[in-house]
Amino acid sequence: MRRPLIAGNWKMNMSVREAEDFIDAIKKAADTTSDEVLVCVPSIHLGLLSSKVFGSNLEIGAQTMHEEEKGAFTGEISADMLKDYGISHCIIGHSERRKFFNETDVTVNLKLKKALEKDISPVVCVGETLEEKEGGIAESVIKRQILGAFKDIPGKEAEIVAVAYEPVWAIGTGRTAEPEDAQKTIGYIRELLDDKYGKEISEKTRILYGGSVKSSNIKNIMKQKDIDGVLVGGASLDKDHFKKIIKYK
Ligand code: PEP
Repeated sequence: MRRPLIAGNWKMNMSVREAEDFIDAIKKAADTTSDEVLVCVPSIHLGLLSSKVFGSNLEIGAQTMHEEEKGAFTGEISADMLKDYGISHCIIGHSERRKFFNETDVTVNLKLKKALEKDISPVVCVGETLEEKEGGIAESVIKRQILGAFKDIPGKEAEIVAVAYEPVWAIGTGRTAEPEDAQKTIGYIRELLDDKYGKEISEKTRILYGGSVKSSNIKNIMKQKDIDGVLVGGASLDKDHFKKIIKYK
């Protein structure tokens, strides 16, 4: 049985005061669901917010981390720094990181390995662009991204990873994939994991959907058999809205 994961991604938003208010406001909703609830916040808020959620069902995650242990990488944060603050999760390879910060399947794979080495649960993002969808190559793009991300990662570690299928054309556009279409691609991702690792692992790996998820569409998304959670951008910035998302059941 895969435990659903409801994750928010604040991206580069929220002042420290807004961030604290938000966490105080949603803690109760997070504590009254059996799902796992995660909010991925800007790095500068990680320490403060992780101390605020201590002992609750709400978890604080990072939005990225560097693949190297430490060193001359100005502006970056390491897995050990995340561990110092008790950070349990990190988004890896978000499409905005791929687009604006030149992350590739190779760096995504290195970051994934480093996160797993340090006991940080990765949420690795894959998804095709509109151009790739319209060009009929969505599946081959997803296959390349999945096989690239999981290259040389053993099955026992792979099952710790959550995959987020986020079609780039659905991110921040208000254009959600039809739940049945999201199921189809997510089913395909599970098949790829099955081919690589076998059923025992592929049936344990959580696969989320992301792309304009809101309180009004989460229920239908979560009804799909292979969809184990959501990664929410814009709608995770409004505490009342995110509370409704947490309470979708
Ligand atoms: C995201 O950034 O991961 C995301 C899914 O954004 P949005 O929900 O705004 O589409």
